Amino acid sequence: MDDFAERRAVMVEHQLRERGIDDERVLAAMGEVPREEFVPERRRELAYADAALPIGDEQTISQPWIVAAILQALALTGTERVLEIGTGSGYSTCLLGRLAAHVLSVERHADLARAAAAHLRACASDNIELLVGDGSRGVPDRAPFDAIAVHAAAPAPPPALLEQLAEGGHMVVPVASGREEMLTLLRRRGSDLESIEIAPCRFVPLIGAEGF
Ligand code: SAH
Repeated sequence: MDDFAERRAVMVEHQLRERGIDDERVLAAMGEVPREEFVPERRRELAYADAALPIGDEQTISQPWIVAAILQALALTGTERVLEIGTGSGYSTCLLGRLAAHVLSVERHADLARAAAAHLRACASDNIELLVGDGSRGVPDRAPFDAIAVHAAAPAPPPALLEQLAEGGHMVVPVASGREEMLTLLRRRGSDLESIEIAPCRFVPLIGAEGF
């Protein structure tokens, strides 16, 4: 086992499993995807740290536990069409590609999207599509989505995204209220929306029409 593979296994046990992540598909995917390929060259040594890391343009790759918590809350089985907002490094995109049938991922920074496309070659998935633009409005002409993952904090769950969520679908979004942010799961049941608080969190802001 190479050094990174060993660190990855330790991350899965100590940062994820011991802290309540128990979806075996999520644990297996995070045990396989080389996170070091998604962080800037000079930060590779920190790839498995229990923290978010800078990736340029004042953005970050999220802490492994937060990525796992988002993926677990989406409850993916492998058949879903997923919309992701905030491609960033492409790390979470690669994981979603392994856990679902198709992933459409939107990033507002063109240079991050370009870097993510390069990183995603390491992922070797043919079910991932990247778009550049304001994801806070979603992608209406491709809706509905069975799952929506938002990786940037919004003042409230963006209404446009909720409209694009399929019946029974799961959406995870960090919601900012005052100085606090709460990673929140929303589940569509007919005209009702069930809202479950997952954990306090800290994300970069969602910048856009339905963000800040
Ligand atoms: N999932 C990423 C983490 C991304 S951080 C990873 O695993 O690396 C959040 C990202 O959301 C940033 O790259 C930021 O540029 C992007 N973002 C913020 N507002 C956005 C918007 N309205 N549409 C699309 N992307 C947005």
